[in-house]
Amino acid sequence: MFNEAIEMVKKSNLIYVSAHINPDGDAIGSTFAVYFALKKLGKDVHVVMPSYSEVFEFLPGVEDRVDGIKEDKYDLLIALDSSDHSRLAISDDEYERAEKVIMLDHHQIARPYGDFRYINDNKSSASEIAYLFIKELGVEFDSNIATLLYTGIMTDTGSFNYSNTSSDTLRVTAELVDYGAKTVEVCKKLNDTIKESKLKLLAKSIDNMEVFYDGKVRYTYVDYPTINSLGIHDEDAEGMTNYLRSVEGTEVAVYVRGKSDGSLKVSMRSNGNVDISKIAISFGGGGHPRAAGYTMQDEIEVGKEKLIKAIGEML
Ligand code: AMP
Ligand code: MN
Ligand code: MN
Repeated sequence: MFNEAIEMVKKSNLIYVSAHINPDGDAIGSTFAVYFALKKLGKDVHVVMPSYSEVFEFLPGVEDRVDGIKEDKYDLLIALDSSDHSRLAISDDEYERAEKVIMLDHHQIARPYGDFRYINDNKSSASEIAYLFIKELGVEFDSNIATLLYTGIMTDTGSFNYSNTSSDTLRVTAELVDYGAKTVEVCKKLNDTIKESKLKLLAKSIDNMEVFYDGKVRYTYVDYPTINSLGIHDEDAEGMTNYLRSVEGTEVAVYVRGKSDGSLKVSMRSNGNVDISKIAISFGGGGHPRAAGYTMQDEIEVGKEKLIKAIGEML
């Protein structure tokens, strides 16, 4: 499956690994798993990744990340979980510094880039793909690699609850458990722990919730000054959308938040009847049928009106 990519790895010594901006559990898990695997092959590897939620700080290897690359030329870039070149957490200049590029992704709508592409939206996550890639590389799995890949699969499948959880996903996961994935710790840190500030953000987002179309659509907006006053960083302000979606009768949930750079980030979740990736794409973003997002270009009231109308047309 990855023959050509394996050849590229074999020929490379200096490699950097990266994923999409606003890195989530899958981006972080798949990237650092590949990082460890390449190091085991004796490669010189750098991980380029912007800062992310501190909830992921317990993961092995993450302290090794760098904000930007140092070398002028790299033999290879391995890009994970990023459907689009422009969503990568590296600049165009940094991208150009790689001799070859390998793209591994699982998004439904992808704009392929690089010299080798493996894009499969039947896979739950980039981490599930990274598992297959690492296996083909012939690297022996260890507890660190297993914990990282497990984290990516668990977070992208909503703890094995979403429809992207296939029997293959579960078989891969079973193997990761055999390789020593720290499943209890991952669950405790990511599913069972919430900061008080985030609980207060949840209260705000519920307070601000608006209901449209007989309860089929739930929308909330929290502005940046509010998020900032709670002492929450951009990367920790996520995760409110699922609460809204879980309300009975909801088809689509929307959470908009202000960011420190003045932009508005739209996060959407669907219960399955509305393909929200289409809506996100129409506003310049992307994602999956049930989880999608974009950066709002209009000011909030205008942007909200356009979005609610677009969702209404899909109900
Ligand atoms: P989020 O609501 O931030 O968790 O995003 C859900 C999904 O939507 C992500 O997994 C991405 O695939 C996609 N997504 C979010 N924001 C954007 C964006 N600005 N451009 C493209 N895709 C996005
Ligand atoms: Mn992701
Ligand atoms: Mn993913």
